Amino acid sequence: MHFTLPHKNARGRAVRLGPVLDTILSAHAYPAPIRHLLAEALTITALLGSLLKGEDSQLTLQAQTQDGIVDLLVCDYRNGELRGYVRHDRARLDELGPVPSLFSLFGEGYLAITFDLAATGQRYQGVVPLEGESLAEACQSYFFQSEQIPTLIRIGVSNTPGACVAGGLLLQHLPEGEEGRERLHVQLDHPEWEHVAVLGGSVSEAELVDPSLDLESVVWRLFHEEPEIRTETGTGLTRGCRCTIEHYRDILSRFAAAERAEMENDDGLIVVDCSFCSREFAIDID
Ligand SMILES: [Zn+2]
Repeated sequence: MHFTLPHKNARGRAVRLGPVLDTILSAHAYPAPIRHLLAEALTITALLGSLLKGEDSQLTLQAQTQDGIVDLLVCDYRNGELRGYVRHDRARLDELGPVPSLFSLFGEGYLAITFDLAATGQRYQGVVPLEGESLAEACQSYFFQSEQIPTLIRIGVSNTPGACVAGGLLLQHLPEGEEGRERLHVQLDHPEWEHVAVLGGSVSEAELVDPSLDLESVVWRLFHEEPEIRTETGTGLTRGCRCTIEHYRDILSRFAAAERAEMENDDGLIVVDCSFCSREFAIDID
């Protein structure tokens, strides 16, 4: 759901991931803390993806470290399609408690956010240190540092295998309104934004994931004193993966014949699996 608070020069996005989340998570047999992390990352990806304009534009969120327990997390969004995976060290993860901090999972890492705009072919990428209590906090710093856009992101995750629900709220201060691209520059005094951020920040995790509370009601509860809230339905979210046998054949064709021969199994096939959806492809390259 998209919404605008015209009297406060703020725009918002609210998303909730229900069955789509289980569909994505079910491709991986991740332990609970990694499921939780990926659910949070996918929700953020859906929020940021909903800021894209035009078809076929893509948003990619990538968190990376040198020797963290999680060394790579990737999620992307295109046309309402979401996917993601987390590469991690299971043995080291098991030594942590059930609710590991962001730092204990990643150590010193970086968060890269990339907007690929289909219409113009432009790519914007920003990289910030992976700091704060959560991925959501790290993303807030991305918007503040890379784009000078004051941003608030709140995420809730209810991590029950088979019935996962995640919800997210994003608020941004845009002086030119929804279409505005003019930057606020680094101006620290935004009284109207402070007000929006306090109200938005008061949303609870429980509200974000409560199936009996639709997103419009969540937004209305927070901003009911506003003279006007403009809302618009967002794009529906699905699990989408773009892996194809042609894609892998193309990649493999770039290897030397001798290297490919080493990858072949006894039947002369090269088996590759997609990190995003865990599908396996047995490819006969010759
Ligand atoms: Zn795939």
